[in-house]
Amino acid sequence: MPASEHMPILGKRKSITQRILFPLVALIVLSNLVVLSIIMGQLDQQLLDATEQDLINESELQAVQFRANMAELIRDLRFVTGTPPIQGLIRAERNGGADPSDGSSEAEWVARLGLIFSEMLKAKPQNVQIRFIRANGLELIRVDRYGPSGTIQRISQNELQDKSASKYLSETLRLDTGHVYLSDIELNREFGEIVQPLQPVIRAATPVYTADRELFGIVIINHNLQTTFDALKSIAGVDHQFVIANGRGEYLAHPDAERRFAFEYGRSSKITEDFPIAQRLLDEPQLEVLNGKGNTNGKALVYSLRSITYNPEDSTDRLILATSHDFQDALAIKDRMLSKIYLFLIFVLLMSGILAIYVSRRIAGPIISMRNTLNRDGLATQSEDLPIHDGGELGELARAFDNLLQELSRKQTLLAAEITERKGAELELRVNNQKLKAAYKELEQFTYIASHDLQEPLRTVQSLVEMFEENYGSEMDEQAKTFLGFIKESTMRMTALIRGLLDYGRLGGESELTEVDCQELVNAVCVDLSLRLDEVGGSVEYKDLPVITGKKTELRLLFQNLISNGLKFRRPDVSPEIIIAAERGLDCWQFSVSDNGIGIAPEHFQHIFMIFQRLHGRDEFEGSGIGLAHCKKVVELHGGEIWVESQLNVGTVFYFSLRDNRDEHA
Ligand code: ADP
Repeated sequence: MPASEHMPILGKRKSITQRILFPLVALIVLSNLVVLSIIMGQLDQQLLDATEQDLINESELQAVQFRANMAELIRDLRFVTGTPPIQGLIRAERNGGADPSDGSSEAEWVARLGLIFSEMLKAKPQNVQIRFIRANGLELIRVDRYGPSGTIQRISQNELQDKSASKYLSETLRLDTGHVYLSDIELNREFGEIVQPLQPVIRAATPVYTADRELFGIVIINHNLQTTFDALKSIAGVDHQFVIANGRGEYLAHPDAERRFAFEYGRSSKITEDFPIAQRLLDEPQLEVLNGKGNTNGKALVYSLRSITYNPEDSTDRLILATSHDFQDALAIKDRMLSKIYLFLIFVLLMSGILAIYVSRRIAGPIISMRNTLNRDGLATQSEDLPIHDGGELGELARAFDNLLQELSRKQTLLAAEITERKGAELELRVNNQKLKAAYKELEQFTYIASHDLQEPLRTVQSLVEMFEENYGSEMDEQAKTFLGFIKESTMRMTALIRGLLDYGRLGGESELTEVDCQELVNAVCVDLSLRLDEVGGSVEYKDLPVITGKKTELRLLFQNLISNGLKFRRPDVSPEIIIAAERGLDCWQFSVSDNGIGIAPEHFQHIFMIFQRLHGRDEFEGSGIGLAHCKKVVELHGGEIWVESQLNVGTVFYFSLRDNRDEHA
């Protein structure tokens, strides 16, 4: 049977694999959860911050783009204004229709200018119309871009209009040379009617002066802002809402068609309705950017508002751009990220599980195989079957086991030798014991036969003495009678001695062990001795004596002898008082029987227990000297000891111990 089967199992212990696996996986899960919770805690704020920064960057780019656009428009205007045909035209007109420098007619210069205007429109698709208008308001030349195909056409003479009432003319004519007028951004109109499809336009115009600084007319470009607005929108992220308002806060671009250019239709639709905070930008011209997050007009938004001045002549010309992003949309990315994080976590968990299993197998594997070897081979395990040459703890463990095994098998050999030796000794003891028993039996038989056979001649002597007394009694003198008395007395004593010897031999012989109530036993002895007690006026005191396992008849003899001796060896004139007590020892009961008699001198303490040993003459105290020998034998039969303590003329205490065999026999 393997050694492990003898071992008590002290509760459920985990295997090494489990001990490594659980903490490792728990550690990984915990660290992942900590990382996740940190990420989650920061994610919202960071996402919103990042969105806000995106919006700021976008609107900045939009501002740059729009200003660049306007700058380009102004450049284009200056370019066409500076072209030679305009000065040629002035020269021709001032000189009665022919340019003195090269003789070109007014019409020729107009034609050349028309060509340049057309080329300009071709080159810049956002410009939809370029005109030269005289200072008196009559259009001198006008090139238009028409319809969806974008055909460029110079308007015939008879279609030219009088623009003397228009605001842009009067505004531009007021300017000094080189300065530019930029109109409000409006929907393109033709003859007062809004042109379909709708086109947001801005007019850029600049005055033209003659060499002697006389106002001659203006050059004006109508610029379609739709492409620019689209470009600005395309800068804004796909998920971002983007609107444009003018310097009065009126919408120019808005996802809802109803709301853009509402002022053109007599309605009002302003950026402050959606972003009340935009009012600040409208009120404070020097304020450029306003961004933030929070509830704006009932919606949770991240937003960036920007005021763009684009007219170098007039800083009150402004566009208000607003890009914004819904909280919900901004945070939607979190959900996408989360699902990725969860996937990643599951992956990490799986990997860590596999890693933990691998690591624990690497560690536990060799230990398990060592355990299997030890279970299989036990003490016969060979050193080479254990990994004793391994480095590290496993090698140390294997070497420790190997040493232990060698030590155990050495001890086992020693133990086997010792057991053989002991068995031999035991056998010898048993043989000796049997021999001893046989010798004891023989001795008992010898004692019996001897005492039995001794009685025979003694009885003959006794009957001969009786016959002698009957036949010759009358003839005997006094001396002969005394001698015969001595013979009779001696034979009687001899009979008593032999009977005592027989009793001694028989003591303990075949009797059984039984439960003996000592209290009852002493009671019975006292009843037997009651006549003698009355006679000498003695008393026996005893109480709570125990129940023990022993040989009843022998124990009765023991108490009887000790009580009778206490009564017998009393001091003259002192009533004998005998006290019997018992006290529990470790594995025995210790009894004491004390009296107030004549006492015993210490030098006799030992030999009074020997058979036929007496301290007094028969004329002093009768007796055969066998009582205490009986007592010693009875006590020893019960595995105990007997001894005496005494003081002359004070009293004697006999102590004896009786083994308490009750548990053994229960
Ligand atoms: P016996 O009583 O027949 O003489 P025992 O063997 O009983 O023989 O006693 C041996 C001797 O021990 C006695 O002769 C006596 O001198 C002494 N002895 C015994 N019991 C007492 C006692 N209680 N007090 C004094 N002496 C005692």
